Formats: sequence, C-alpha cells, structure tokens
Amino acid sequence: MPAADPPRPHHPAAPSRRRVLSLAGAGVGGWAALGLAAAPVAASTAGVPVAFTAGPAGTRVVLIPQTLSATSKGTGPAAPAFRIGYLAVRWSAPGGGTGPGAAAGTESAGAAIRLRQVKGGYGSWSPLAVGCPAERDDRPAGASSAHAVLMGATTATGYELRVPQGASGVVVTALNTTSGPCRRLMVPDLTAQAALAAVAGLAAAAGVAGPGSPAAAVAGLAAAAASAEPRSPARARSVPRPRHAPLAAAAGPAPAAGPAPAGEGGAPPSVSTAPTAAPTGSAPSALGLRYLPRVAWGADESLRLNPATGQPWPTTYHPGQVITVHHTVTPNDDPDPAATVRAIYHFHTVERGWADIGYHFLIDEAGSLYEGRWSGTDGVPGHRPDGQVVTGAHVGGFNAGNVGVALLGDHRNRAPTAAARRSLALVLLALCGAHSLNPVGSVDYLNPVGGARRRVSAISGHRDWMATECPGAVLYSTLDSVRLEVARALL
Ligand SMILES: [Zn+2]
Repeated sequence: MPAADPPRPHHPAAPSRRRVLSLAGAGVGGWAALGLAAAPVAASTAGVPVAFTAGPAGTRVVLIPQTLSATSKGTGPAAPAFRIGYLAVRWSAPGGGTGPGAAAGTESAGAAIRLRQVKGGYGSWSPLAVGCPAERDDRPAGASSAHAVLMGATTATGYELRVPQGASGVVVTALNTTSGPCRRLMVPDLTAQAALAAVAGLAAAAGVAGPGSPAAAVAGLAAAAASAEPRSPARARSVPRPRHAPLAAAAGPAPAAGPAPAGEGGAPPSVSTAPTAAPTGSAPSALGLRYLPRVAWGADESLRLNPATGQPWPTTYHPGQVITVHHTVTPNDDPDPAATVRAIYHFHTVERGWADIGYHFLIDEAGSLYEGRWSGTDGVPGHRPDGQVVTGAHVGGFNAGNVGVALLGDHRNRAPTAAARRSLALVLLALCGAHSLNPVGSVDYLNPVGGARRRVSAISGHRDWMATECPGAVLYSTLDSVRLEVARALL
C-alpha cells in the first residue's frame, strides 16, 4: 500500500457524545486558526441543516445535524426509519464492469433504482448514474469491477434496487444529512470582506507581488464576485485578521490556534520566495480565497478517526503538480448544498473507506466554496503551510500532488451557473498562482509514490485521466474558456 494514503479505515461506530464535543472544540480551534480566509458566502439556508444564529459578541452558533445512516444488503425493498436524502449504492459486477454503460460513465451497467414516495407507492425505475468515479491511489487490483454511486433521493421513504445479473456484494446505505440530532458549535463570526483583501500570501506563493500579479488578479476577481453577491448583514461584524503563514512561505512555527483579535494585523512571517514584501496592511491569507471551512458545512470529524486508536488517519503531502476538475452528479438546483457536501463526505469517508472526503475543494451553484479534505489547522485549505498539497482521493493512481476541485451538481447536460463558474476560475487562479502552473499549459505528472505518469493539461478534467464522463460533457467543454480567463487574469 503506498504511503500516500492512510490505511483503509473500518467503519467507525457512532461517536459518543463526549467524542463529538471534544471534536467540536477542535473544530472551533481549527476555524479560528483559519483566520479570515474562512468567510462563508452563502451558508445553507434551507431547513436547519447548518443554521447560524447570533452568539456572544464576535461569535455565532452553528447547529449541525448528525448524519443518519442505515445500511442494508441486497436488492429488495428497504425502508429506513428516516426520510432518505441520499443513497450510497455499491456492488461488484462480473467482468470488470466494462460494459458500455460503465465504460462511458453514463450508467452503472444497467443498474436501476426506484424510490418509495412519501405519499406511498413507488416511482418509476431510473438508471443509476455513475457520477464521479473518484478513487484512492491504492485501489486494489481488479477493483474496477466495483461500482459505487451516490444518488440524491429527496425525501424518499424507501427504495428498491436492481443490479445487473451476476452482481454481488450489494450494499445500500441510506443517508439523511438534514434532520438528525444537532450539534451546537460556537465559532468566531468572520466576515467575507476581510477575506477579500487576503491576497499577499498568494503573491508570496507565486513569487510575485504588485499590480498584475496573481494576487492582484485574485483580488480583482474576488471583488467582482463580491459586488455581485448580496452580503448577509449578520456576517459583517468582527474582522479578525489572519495569523497564519502564507502558503509557500519559509517554514516557521505553526500559528497558535484561537481567534485573532480584530485589528491585530501583525506582520506576515518572513517570506523566502517573494521578491517583494507583502503589502503592509493587507491580509496575508493563504490562498486569498474565502470559503466555508469544514466546521461550517458540518463535517463530523469523528468520521476521520481510526476507531482502534481514536486518532485521525494520517495524512500525506506532496508538491502540487496539477489540478483536476470534477462534478459530483448530485441533484441540480440543490436547495441544501451543505447537506450534499455532508453526504459526499459520509460516502467517501465511511462507505468508500477513504478516511475523508476525496476532493480538496467543492463549489455549489451559488458559488460558495467548501473546504474539502482536511489538511491541518494552519488555515491553508487543502495544503499545509509549506505549500504541499494533502493527498486526496479523486483520481485513482494519480492523487499525490493532484488538487481536486468538484462542482456540485450534474454537468452532463447543464452548464455551471455563472456564480459557480466564477468561483471555479477564482480557485483555479489561486491554485495556479500557488503552484506556478500555466493555466493553458500541460504538465508531465509523476506520482511521487506510485510512479504513474501522465501528460495532461495543468487544469485537467477527470476524464483526461481515465474513462469517465466526469466532469460532465458541458462542464468539460467550458474548461478551455475558464483556462483562458485564468490566464488573462494572470497577465
Ligand atoms: Zn470526477
């Protein structure tokens, strides 16, 4: 097993209340250490999946529902004790799953499902869409025959599954990420405005600064995005300043956890790669991106624990070489994208056994950016402070040094929203700057662990690596224009 990935975890038992609370405390520290890079754009507002209410001055309360799950084996009718939000379906097919549907990534080789409606009775049979066949680097030989699908099943009360003849090992897990018992977290109230000014770290990472730099480009795009989005007045209160080291800055002591006092900017740590110092007074954030950190979208960090040790599975880091874009094939017009991110997290972490969510970043239709795979409490999403990328699980065999960015939704036939596309460009711009990638160029990727090589676009789509429709035909067809937009912004 390559060292790039943590051991495959067993399915953890439901965490104890005590464990949840202790993790909640860690989450608050992680949030605080994120500094002003953490600034939700459009937190979930439907129902009470992740609810924000006023807390003591400078804080707010986050209510996060525990994910409910019920696993059954076989294909007959099943009815969990809760409304179903998502179904995680797995089975093994004979012949390596190389049927026309599986190969093209359009259907799961003839598998179909029908849902029992709230009002009783079943809907019609629907083929299971494959989605993004994300995978770890250490996928066992022959595992290509394993199918795994996460599908939306809005408020269904039951389901019945059909799989191709000869399929075995059928396991279906029903998930509900919206109505379980809530955890209550108190977190610093961060603002979006502070994050928008956070660009010096990017300049440091890219080795350039000043007008025309990637940092300036990110600032310009971010400002444009901000002007186009309504800002919640509830978020415009305290303005903590960042304390963490810029990405790719000289290695230094880790910043202390805890909220940074408003108005205490502090000079950025010494930067060895920047020809010019970070502008005085600007906020030296990591990637210059505002995003929903894991605690804000409701990541249950107990899912990342090795039940044998109570400690998180180890993470590995490598220099960033390439970026890969995905779509999640979750429902479009998603009323509760944070709940969807929690479902993907559960699917990847528990049902797939990858120790965490496979992607580094996710983007919803409103353009909100979600921190994906856990990479530390240093405030650099997807990275550690020296600029190395945490190894994800999104392109099997090619994960080390490969940053995964997933757009929520099904983009086989639908283009991303303008807001999602804009956020994608922002993320790509920041990542290209941070890793010195030419957005319209190609790279010779080499997996430093497994040794796999591939020449691909620096901004690639999942289908550039393997036979899959991901990131969807329509999204894939827009990547050229996004690459050009990022390149122009870098000029
Ligand atoms: Zn994908």
